Amino acid sequence: MSLNFKNFIKQVGQRNPNEPEFLQAVTEVVEDLIPYIIENRQDFIDLKILERMVEPERVVSFRVAWLDDKNQIQVNRGYRVQMNSAIGPYKGGLRFAPDVNLSILKFLAFEQVFKNSLTGLPIGGGKGGSDFDPKGKSDNEIMRFCQSFMTELQRHIGSETDVPAGDIGVGTREVGYLFGQYKRLQNNFSGVLTGKGTQWGGSYIRPEATGYGLLYFVQCVLDYNNENIEGKVISISGAGNVAYYAAEKGIQLGAKVITLSNSQGTIYDKDGFTLEKLAYIATLGRDIAKFAKKYPSASYHAKENPWQFKCDIALPCATQNEINESDAKKLVKNGCKIVAEGANMPSTAEAIRVYHQAKIHFGPGKAANAGGVAVSGLEMSQNAIGQQWSPEKVDHRLKLIMENIHKTCVRFGKEPTGYINYLRGANIGGFIKVAEAMKAQGVV
Ligand code: GLU
Repeated sequence: MSLNFKNFIKQVGQRNPNEPEFLQAVTEVVEDLIPYIIENRQDFIDLKILERMVEPERVVSFRVAWLDDKNQIQVNRGYRVQMNSAIGPYKGGLRFAPDVNLSILKFLAFEQVFKNSLTGLPIGGGKGGSDFDPKGKSDNEIMRFCQSFMTELQRHIGSETDVPAGDIGVGTREVGYLFGQYKRLQNNFSGVLTGKGTQWGGSYIRPEATGYGLLYFVQCVLDYNNENIEGKVISISGAGNVAYYAAEKGIQLGAKVITLSNSQGTIYDKDGFTLEKLAYIATLGRDIAKFAKKYPSASYHAKENPWQFKCDIALPCATQNEINESDAKKLVKNGCKIVAEGANMPSTAEAIRVYHQAKIHFGPGKAANAGGVAVSGLEMSQNAIGQQWSPEKVDHRLKLIMENIHKTCVRFGKEPTGYINYLRGANIGGFIKVAEAMKAQGVV
């Protein structure tokens, strides 16, 4: 039996028509995996491990009907993609955003399998969500939507089956409404969701974990190159949870963080944000433009992304495909040395090619943003043993996990020149454990 990159991608494309994001994520992974497997693992070829990994174990799609504040019926679509449970229960967030579709959720679930494996914790991969747009909805509307969504989802999940969490559009508030409805319907208080509030089963440091973990990963990259984060200029996109805590940790570590953004525009502060400025931004909601009115060192750039500004380190923390080839070229031209992804797949395939050609250090999301799901894994452990660990303990474990992920990337991604191809390292490092588990568990 043989395995060939072109044929493989062609077949995945034919089996999954109209799913460009899923195809992009699969291509990004198998480009590295196929040469590795051909050279090292005939057993994985014979067992059709890759062919099985690109086929979700289960996909659930369901109607979510709910009443808005005007008593009008609204209809959305809900999903859960249960991608791979070889090393643990399905685990991954829920995304509520108007552009959510099966292609996007399958790409996210596929990435999640590798990311979760890299954390070293026993968690499989899944993802779910809805095309529900939380923007402009009242708190009661959000609650009614979450209750209706969970009324169907509850039969497909469980603390040892599938454990959802947050993603874009789903934070502690939504997890609360979802958890309340699950508990009511199942009469069961368990770790079925992560990202819970700290008074009701949540882990300390979970909200901060993705952003903090991203900075810990960046510190590992700098350490490896005998450099230090102090004084480095960091450009961040996004203004949500990941971006916010990435900025906070960057500032705490002595870096100069100069941008944040949302889908409407970018704020740039030539003096860098302080913790106080950051706290002010957190009060602005979507109206981040106001920041530039208060601080003379800052400017607002409507309809522009942050990648035109000169930085040492770029941290895309908004959404998929937010850095294209021309953005990547701008970053390289301006001297950017590290791109580490807080979002999932924010760089297009062409952008990644630009990073690799320029030999800048590129930490893909599945490695660099794994801190969020890692602390979710720690939340599951705490729930299972009925304990709550201190913030210091969780933060310490998060740091260790990010250091281990970095080590894995170096181990599998080091090129003869010494350059670390973190993407290849993460793909191969994440893959092996899942593939071995699939092999051990037979043809399922
Ligand atoms: N949505 C996050 C991610 O992309 C976290 C998932 C989780 O905590 O389960 O990894």
